[in-house]
Amino acid sequence: IRAYVKDYCKRNGLLTLSVFAVVTGCVLGFLLRSFNLSTQAKIYFSFPGELLMRMLKMLILPLITSSLMSGLSAMDTKASGRLGVLTITYYLWTTFIAVIVGIVLVLIIHPGTGSEKDGHHTKTLVTFDLRHDFIYNDLKESQANYVYVMPDYHNPQLGHPVFLEITPAPDIKYKIVPSTSKGMNVLGIVIFSATMGLLLGKMGERGAPLVNVCQCINECVMKIINAAMWYFPFGIVFLVAGKILDMHDPAHLGEKLGMYFITVLSGLFVHGLILLPLFFYFFTRRNPFPYIRGLLQALVIALATSSSSATLPITMKCLLENCGVDRQIARFVLPVGATINMDGTALYEAVAAIFIAQVNEYDLDFGQLVTISITATAASIGAAGIPQAGLVTMVIVLTSVGLPPADISLIVAIDWVLDRFRTMINVLGDALAAGIMAHICKKDFEKAAARDTVISFGN
Ligand code: ASP
Repeated sequence: IRAYVKDYCKRNGLLTLSVFAVVTGCVLGFLLRSFNLSTQAKIYFSFPGELLMRMLKMLILPLITSSLMSGLSAMDTKASGRLGVLTITYYLWTTFIAVIVGIVLVLIIHPGTGSEKDGHHTKTLVTFDLRHDFIYNDLKESQANYVYVMPDYHNPQLGHPVFLEITPAPDIKYKIVPSTSKGMNVLGIVIFSATMGLLLGKMGERGAPLVNVCQCINECVMKIINAAMWYFPFGIVFLVAGKILDMHDPAHLGEKLGMYFITVLSGLFVHGLILLPLFFYFFTRRNPFPYIRGLLQALVIALATSSSSATLPITMKCLLENCGVDRQIARFVLPVGATINMDGTALYEAVAAIFIAQVNEYDLDFGQLVTISITATAASIGAAGIPQAGLVTMVIVLTSVGLPPADISLIVAIDWVLDRFRTMINVLGDALAAGIMAHICKKDFEKAAARDTVISFGN
């Protein structure tokens, strides 16, 4: 028995501790709510959790740049082109299916029409800034006040920041890292690093020194993650408890909001635990559940942090160490996925928009449903992998069919909970995609490696 316990702890100790930390965080948070802590006390209490978030965020930039640059530089141009096209097609396709699942469920369950009239929803004028900060405290605070700042761009046009920031313009005066108005511009970084990686690959031996630097950075990041992992359970307790301490009174949930919650959760369940595993089986002919088991640590971190970008280092670690996915493929598929592939977010945006229409007794015709499905897909691509980013980009979906963006206030109270579950599905979608791409493109890479035996930058 002792040998079994030892072996179990070695293999699953950290995961068990992390799950335990989530539960402890919930219990502690609810217990402390009755003490009415002061704002100052809450800030101190949330400190270890905030430290965890920052630790993860610190790793995102070096991880994404070094992964993409070293990963793509090692690829044969043809193989990387095929991998790129297949990955993006797969991402778009699964996101669109997620939206359809959401639409079907919300039309069947019809959460927006309760059996009796619900309590009054106070519709504060809610306005948004799409160029949200990477620091989640901002949203936490603004959510508490139900007030957001809406700049004058209501529709996604070409000049819209979401599109403009695809090409990062670094603010030389203040920082080297390309950023949005306030936070880190992950999509811009992905595009810049991917382009650099492709070019470095073409440069051959001349590009080798930079590729080596990237590989060293990549290894260091993975080493930092290995060391930091043991802090995670501790940080998670305070991260979760701190959020619950800050939460608005859950007793105010109306019947409609409860049904909306159930609709989103069932959609996430159907998509994440039935459809995505089916796709995985279809493409790889492998049982998806042992693969998903290898990802549990990343899923718990996604649940605790509500951020697929912050979870990225752990997802990478799980894929390489537990799921045996090819390093080169994971280095491309994951960072791109963490930035543009958000099945959970897309599903939720569609459900939320239709729910808001139902509450307003606003009948949506087929054309409007199609519009919602397209804009929800686009809005999920534009959403950053940070807490509650989906809530912000939902303005795009609502305005596309003429719904009042102010009605986001109807769902804002429970959004932080749903955010955690949809982030888990976002992370799961990326990781399953990496497994599928590794299977489909395996032959390409073997061929490329055989052809190109002189210079090999990959490890
Ligand atoms: N929090 C989500 C993520 O990081 C994005 C969102 O749906 O708000 O993946």
